[in-house]
Amino acid sequence: MPRSRRSGVAGDIRRLIEERHPSHCCDGCLALHFAVSLAEARSAALTIASESGFRRQHAVGGSCNRQLELTALAIGLGPN
Ligand SMILES: [Zn+2]
Repeated sequence: MPRSRRSGVAGDIRRLIEERHPSHCCDGCLALHFAVSLAEARSAALTIASESGFRRQHAVGGSCNRQLELTALAIGLGPN
């Protein structure tokens, strides 16, 4: 499947984070999952974290069991 979109894999990563919630995906696992470089996955993850509804937080990755900073859905923090 050709990947020619200008936005890169950010859209796919956003969708995966939403699908995996409440489990987490770290930057390294995102890179492996989408077969992109760690730099590319981290750049996309940081972009997504700046969007409404997402944030960077320390959590344990669901696949790798490592505790590190990753991009996650910013829900479950309150009544909203
Ligand atoms: Zn991971």
